Amino acid sequence: MTTVATRLSEVKSTLPATGVQLVAVSKFHPAETIREAYDAGHRCFGESRVQELQQKYDQLPHDIEWHFIGHLQTNKVKYIIPYVAMIHSVDSTRILDEIERQAARVDRVVDCLLEVHVAQEDTKFGFSPQECCDFLASLTVDSYPHVRFRGIMGMASNTDDEVQVRAEFAQLKALFDTVRNGAMAGNSSFDTLSMGMSLDYRMAIEEGSTMVRIGTTIFGEREY
Ligand SMILES: *Cc1c(COP(=O)(O)O)cnc(C)c1O
Repeated sequence: MTTVATRLSEVKSTLPATGVQLVAVSKFHPAETIREAYDAGHRCFGESRVQELQQKYDQLPHDIEWHFIGHLQTNKVKYIIPYVAMIHSVDSTRILDEIERQAARVDRVVDCLLEVHVAQEDTKFGFSPQECCDFLASLTVDSYPHVRFRGIMGMASNTDDEVQVRAEFAQLKALFDTVRNGAMAGNSSFDTLSMGMSLDYRMAIEEGSTMVRIGTTIFGEREY
């Protein structure tokens, strides 16, 4: 049987030596499974549900960097703000306002990515590319003192049409560059383009991803 540690090191061997961070997406997998990756030296994990993250945070060592990647409800923001390392799924200004409020309460500055919607499916949350540009251009230095805008997160359509997937990643990269050279110019913290999952991360990296979110290839199929 292939172990988590083996699959983790196989995935790592396919990543460039520098410039691409790996978020191991551990959602729906128990703490013991995450522990195997932890014991193999990995520290960066992604979760998509607040209650599940809370439980795992309590069960596992506190030097883990927890990334939140799922749709976040306003009333649950407060539970993860004290310890979450990065929120990838900021999909509205309403949720951002709540992140700011809760981060101020605990005197933290929280790393956030704006989730941008480019895929064909209309079920996905997020800003449109134009909304993302407009919003970031509207920021002033003191709009969100407890939020550090680190970049953009996106997902490609769930299709085996590689031409389409590649075009969507290229669109996210173009948006990222536009914002980095425009609205966020001079802000060196804006450095993260989170795109790529198990089935498409190689293509995402070719198109300029700096952070991949990989679950199934490392931990196996999820049981819902
Ligand atoms: C579940 C999930 C992933 C990981 O997906 P895999 O196909 O298992 O690699 C990545 N990003 C987001 C936003 C997810 O919800």
